[in-house]
Amino acid sequence: MKNKIILSTILIIFLAFYFTLKYYPNSYVNKMINSATAFFSMGISINDLISKYSDTEKNGKIKILLVPGHEPSFGGAEYKNLLERDLNLTLSEKIKNILSKNNKFEIITSRNINGWNPELEKYVNNNKNEILVWINNMKSSMSKLVNNGKVNVVNAEMGHSIAPLKSAIFLYGINKWAGENKIDIAIHLHFNDNPKYKGKPNYEGFTIYVPEKQYSNGTSSKILAKDLFDEISKIQKVSTMPEENGGIIEDQELIALGRYNTSDSLSVIIEYAYIYESLMQNVKLRNDFIEKSASSTANAINKFFESRI
Ligand SMILES: [Zn+2]
Repeated sequence: MKNKIILSTILIIFLAFYFTLKYYPNSYVNKMINSATAFFSMGISINDLISKYSDTEKNGKIKILLVPGHEPSFGGAEYKNLLERDLNLTLSEKIKNILSKNNKFEIITSRNINGWNPELEKYVNNNKNEILVWINNMKSSMSKLVNNGKVNVVNAEMGHSIAPLKSAIFLYGINKWAGENKIDIAIHLHFNDNPKYKGKPNYEGFTIYVPEKQYSNGTSSKILAKDLFDEISKIQKVSTMPEENGGIIEDQELIALGRYNTSDSLSVIIEYAYIYESLMQNVKLRNDFIEKSASSTANAINKFFESRI
């Protein structure tokens, strides 16, 4: 009898602990567990993605978010009469048109010619406080891991221009929204710029930025980036900027890639060319380059899945 009471007590304690963890994801205990493991658990694996792709009728389509860099009427490189944010948008529409032909994909864009994706814009505007609290939580979890020596801070060799607070919140908001909406892949589209050397533009070529390898989405994003690199290098030279040497650059600080481990999706930022390159200045050459950039990006994404199925 006494043994039975002890056993039942143990069982009750065990069940209470189990259900606390299972049904109260915000409980103190669970927060502790998450903060201790979040940076070491792998996010979406390539195998997960390929098995999802192999039966989208059962698993749902692969969700790809295209993010033409910057905002509908703010931000981005400018050169002569060219606006990077508009080039990004043109490219995004072309990639969307090609990828939409694959019925295993659901293609979502963060903005189009009419402005922000209304669902995304509403989400960010209605959840500003939640987004700010979330950023702070992620940031302090990361600080704790850094202080405990579990995560190394890796400073980018190059200084990125810092997004204004409003733009930064929107970028984090995209990451949070993408996580809640189970976006598998986020592709951020950009054209590059850099301070001119003695008044003259200097570097040329493309670069792909990926999340630093300690982040949950680091490993898988890099594999996708390699496939993108193989296709884009057929139409454009690799960046001649020394800090972009090799063409695939890991970064721990860019929000779009999931700074503080805020992105669950495979994430890449592609800088297709420096905006002042000669191939961007002539209308015909530019249209041709954007067309080729769109098809090489879409080909790489299709191949990423088809070659592994
Ligand atoms: Zn940009």
